[in-house]
Amino acid sequence: MTRPALRILSLGAGVQSTTIALLAAAHVLPPLDAAIFADTGWETEEVYAHLDRLENEVFKPSGTPLYRVSAGHIRDDALDPARRFASMPLHIRNPDGGDGLLRRQCTDQYKLTPLKRKVRELLGYPHPYSVPRGLHAETWIGISRDEFHRARDSGVQYLSSAFPLLYLPGAADGRGGWTREDCLRYLRTHGWATTPRSSCIGCPFHNNGHWRHLRDTQPKAWADAVAFDRAIRAGNARGNARGKPLLGKAYLHRSRRPLDEAPIDRVTAHEWTRKQTDLFTQIADTEMEAGCSPWSCRASRK
Ligand code: SF4
Repeated sequence: MTRPALRILSLGAGVQSTTIALLAAAHVLPPLDAAIFADTGWETEEVYAHLDRLENEVFKPSGTPLYRVSAGHIRDDALDPARRFASMPLHIRNPDGGDGLLRRQCTDQYKLTPLKRKVRELLGYPHPYSVPRGLHAETWIGISRDEFHRARDSGVQYLSSAFPLLYLPGAADGRGGWTREDCLRYLRTHGWATTPRSSCIGCPFHNNGHWRHLRDTQPKAWADAVAFDRAIRAGNARGNARGKPLLGKAYLHRSRRPLDEAPIDRVTAHEWTRKQTDLFTQIADTEMEAGCSPWSCRASRK
């Protein structure tokens, strides 16, 4: 493959991609030409504050433009009959009492599509122009060694994928490639311990720890998720307006109970395991589900 014309960070604004941004600014990794954050419009205030801080303290001083791109507001789109809605992975209670899960299209629609659109624009060939063969941007994706199985190619010829964390030396266990713990350690020692997880406020993939964190630390966002959960019970507004109602009832919590009645205080075996292994990690991190990024929606981890 030819040399990439651009080196672009796909910024999820969570632990791994923030680590990459810092490493590039510190010249541990080669410099970036740009960073792109695909905004679903429904992140917590702490994520947007983190993004602002990254822009002011890391990207601007290093001369790296940060582009915030969007394909809509996922929450508003779900509740507006006039807007197209890409389905979220809502938990369904079927009419026969069985369980279901709606197909996840939201990551593609709200994250991948606007990111690809921006890359084409930066390469000089916005849609509908076709990108000449061989011209491509290298997208850096924040995947750590413990989740290497999520690394995958973009599937489009003008975008090659690179995973810098997988090849970094200096991991605490002496093996090649940084783990999420190595990233957290780096962030802590460089003044970025408060790096949040990035994902939609009402992502149905959140685990109990994430819901508790939201309820206990961000009451406004929690109330927003509870209200959305109630409003989405009969499915998205556009489907209903077009005479394609949801068969069954939709919920944000996997118990398929209203969010404010769901058993989110129950600590699952998976959470206990993570707590045991993450003794030196921030509490908020051990208790929350991993975030969502364009190429590797981590929110699906159980
Ligand atoms: S965080 Fe959840 S709801 Fe938001 S885009 Fe990712 S999978 Fe969809």
